[in-house]
Amino acid sequence: MMSSSGNFSELQKIPSQSEIIFKGDERLVAYQGDVVLAGNPDALVRARDIQDVSQIMAYCHHHSIPVTFSGGRTGLTGAASAEGGLLIVTEKMNKILDWYKQGEQHTVTAQAGIYLGDLKQAVADEALFYPPDPTSFREAVLGGTVATNAKGEDALLYGNTRDYIRSMRIVCANGEIRELRRGNKRSRSQQPSWTPYHGSDDPLELMIGSEGTLAFIAELTLDLLPEDKAWWAALAFFPSIASSIDFINALFKYRRPRALEFIDARALSFMAKGQDVPALRQGAQAALYWKQEYVSDAEKEETLQKDLLVLEGILKDAGSSPWAQDTLFASTEAEKTRFRHWRHYIPSYINEAAMSFIDNGGGKVASDWWVPRQKIREAIEIVYQESQEEKLEAIIFGHIGQGHPHVNYIAQNDDEKKRARHLLVKQCERAVAWGGGVCGEHGIGKLFKELLAIQVSSAEIKRMNAIKREWDPHWILGRGTIIDVPDC
Ligand SMILES: Cc1cc2nc3c(=O)[nH]c(=O)nc-3n(C[C@H](O)[C@H](O)[C@H](O)COP(=O)(O)OP(=O)(O)OC[C@H]3O[C@@H](n4cnc5c(N)ncnc54)[C@H](O)[C@@H]3O)c2cc1C
Repeated sequence: MMSSSGNFSELQKIPSQSEIIFKGDERLVAYQGDVVLAGNPDALVRARDIQDVSQIMAYCHHHSIPVTFSGGRTGLTGAASAEGGLLIVTEKMNKILDWYKQGEQHTVTAQAGIYLGDLKQAVADEALFYPPDPTSFREAVLGGTVATNAKGEDALLYGNTRDYIRSMRIVCANGEIRELRRGNKRSRSQQPSWTPYHGSDDPLELMIGSEGTLAFIAELTLDLLPEDKAWWAALAFFPSIASSIDFINALFKYRRPRALEFIDARALSFMAKGQDVPALRQGAQAALYWKQEYVSDAEKEETLQKDLLVLEGILKDAGSSPWAQDTLFASTEAEKTRFRHWRHYIPSYINEAAMSFIDNGGGKVASDWWVPRQKIREAIEIVYQESQEEKLEAIIFGHIGQGHPHVNYIAQNDDEKKRARHLLVKQCERAVAWGGGVCGEHGIGKLFKELLAIQVSSAEIKRMNAIKREWDPHWILGRGTIIDVPDC
């Protein structure tokens, strides 16, 4: 039942605007995988519209041809990489279809293949705001961010992608087009929250974060907020990890910032590789980057002064009073964009460094676990300790305000990679035992399936299997992602 009996060249007979490229054509190479896993599809379709996708999927369903969806290919789990079968690429489905503005309700409807950065800009041009902002927002596309329920630094205040999905049009595995709607607006997620197939039977909730395993997401209607608020950002340096965490705890006692990101010494060294990054504080063991919204100049001044005062107190206690002078600030658009670039350099340069060890059996091993924020100090301390014992260097950065820092290892060979994976599993077990989760934003994909059983019971995995079979009876979609095709 699972073998593909269809003839790919027959696909060309389906009347459609979509371009089909077959194996052997060098244009296919650029689409083969995502950031972490190369694939090898038999053919690729550059889909033009929902009707085309519907016809193509009906054909694939009929012939049990595996289908994988590919957005911006910035995924970190191998989910957009296809081993055989057909790859449906969305880059030509990149239009904004509709705007709706009435009273307080504002929505935009767009095709799945629009770059998130382009969408956010178009929304901002209408004096509105779409908050989801993964660091990769310029290269990731809307459909990919919904299929992974992406987050980003502003998720601390604005929640996850899930919180902004009003409705969607999908193409089911058998080619049927369906419209899914949400009744009431969701309240914003305060923490990373990922449950495979969302622990719900609501079809719309199921699609968000389903990593292309249940249906093709073709069009999305998104809830928008009024124009983005003004905010400032600061980057402060600390002589120890402990003092940086003291600052986080102190800050949260009086306010929840818009974003709060952690950067350890090694991650700072990757950031420093960016050409436009100024000389950073020598000897810093950690840095924090945070954002604060304000509505008036007076509030801007007040929030800044308050945070600086608290920072100075903590640096004084840590015996590094003068370090407060090294704090960098951004409040103009140009300065904030620069900060954003600096933050983006960290995963980009880590990915680049890790790529050079792929042929050696090495590469990047990165975590996506999260813990309740009060556990963050302990979690980070144990990671460094365990990594040292394994003679592996942990590079830690990311969304610490949500208890969600990413631990990265650059494994130079197969043995280091195995040991790093082992540490990752241990970290995830601890995260779950402490009330957190194994995966806060990247998804499970093809590379992290072993983590699933740490978080969910076998009964839940059974439930997921049943959902998958209901939506995709021939198991053609996203093969190898989240759960494996059962033996049958
Ligand atoms: C430098 C860097 C920084 C990153 N920072 C963040 C971050 O801050 N926050 C975060 O959450 N993630 C981050 N990521 C991970 C990644 O960018 C996100 O997971 C993003 O949402 C993936 O979008 P994409 O368009 O690239 O999807 P892809 O990688 O192309 O695909 C991801 C998944 O979505 C599925 N998919 C794609 N399109 C569709 C569709 N139309 N219908 C159904 N399924 C579909 C694919 O099959 C696959 O399972 C980062 C990655 C990089 C490389």
